[in-house]
Amino acid sequence: MEGCRHLVVGAGITGCTIARQIAEELGEKALVIDRRDHIGGNCHSHINEDTGVEVHSYGTHIFHTKERRVWDFLNQFTEFNSYRHKVVTTYEGRTFHMPVNLQTINSFFGISLKPHEVEDFIASKSAEEDITDPQNLEEKAISIIGRELYEAFVKGYTLKQWECDPKELDASIITRLPFRHTFECDYFTDRYQGLPWDGYTKLFERILDHELIETRLNTDFFELKDTLPQECAIYYTGPIDKYFDYCHGELTWRSLRFEYRVEDVPDYQGTSVMNYADIDVPYTRIHEYQHLHPERENTSGRTVTSREFSMKWKQGDEPYYPVNTDEDRKRLERYFEEAAKQENVHFLGRLGQYKYYDMDKAVLAALEFCDSKLNNN
Ligand code: FAD
Repeated sequence: MEGCRHLVVGAGITGCTIARQIAEELGEKALVIDRRDHIGGNCHSHINEDTGVEVHSYGTHIFHTKERRVWDFLNQFTEFNSYRHKVVTTYEGRTFHMPVNLQTINSFFGISLKPHEVEDFIASKSAEEDITDPQNLEEKAISIIGRELYEAFVKGYTLKQWECDPKELDASIITRLPFRHTFECDYFTDRYQGLPWDGYTKLFERILDHELIETRLNTDFFELKDTLPQECAIYYTGPIDKYFDYCHGELTWRSLRFEYRVEDVPDYQGTSVMNYADIDVPYTRIHEYQHLHPERENTSGRTVTSREFSMKWKQGDEPYYPVNTDEDRKRLERYFEEAAKQENVHFLGRLGQYKYYDMDKAVLAALEFCDSKLNNN
């Protein structure tokens, strides 16, 4: 590792962005390592050989952003298709739009409300319980949509996703679920959306394709940490607790398991993501990847799906969603204190910050980090 001046740990969207900025803005060499055998981190995708369909290896990833800077940055390396994400939920054998909108309400209750009638209707449903100061996720959801919609669309899904009674979860979790009075069913409202035209792998290959960037896969940071020269700046996008050998305890995560299948039909569910709200269906969603690229033709007569199961995380599993309990927040504080004492080591990305980032937020955080810190090394 002699002469290494900038080491980027992790070839995910955060690490790739930082490496590119080091090469372009500083004009210096960056070495990017990843312990996996591929670039792209959790945004990685691969081609299924039986069908030619691009499959997202760690769950469906849809790019969406309001940030012009992020959009312009990524458009240097890829075009995006015109995909607009829509989520459908199955409950008791019937299908509904998610987030809850006018179709969901009308279809669920067998009525035909107009937009201006929705507020009073839902208010009458939520008033049945009289919750003015919701203390947990269950109360918050009921205060927004009433008990019937809560039991159908929130309760079972949440129990499966977090393996936890909604009464024990924080009310703030569902501020992310907008409730609509119209038939609008686009999941995201951001100005810029789509899937990389040639796929995620090409996008990351192009970001890293610079004469000053070298990438080494199957390379674990902890195996070369002691060989690094003192002056080497480290941009670490791995788990922060692991860096400090879990000295303040483990930060907790939810993990996921994906069960992939090649289905012997040309179209399995007619949409890219189908949620399953029933508690007795063990998976939370089925992904069908071909729908993410309506501009591509799949002539195989078959299609690739994956069933997504939510699981408790333990060391060795992939960490997906930070659980973020009070205990986690206290531990994270202590890890940030340790991090502040490290000279020349920067903790970044979803694992380094123990934070859920959408891809655009990860890129923006990486760009802003580079703006403020790169010239100070
Ligand atoms: P990562 O992608 O996790 O990259 C970190 C990299 O560091 C990994 O490749 C890892 O192998 C490597 N690493 C860790 N430790 C070491 C070590 N010791 N040595 C070497 N390498 C190491 N965002 C969206 O915008 N749209 C979506 O639709 C969307 N869907 C998602 C679906 C799921 C199920 C999940 C969990 C997330 C989703 N996201 C989505 C968020 C998206 O995955 C993150 O924004 C993105 O992965 C963050 O990138 P990152 O580089 O910070 O982390």
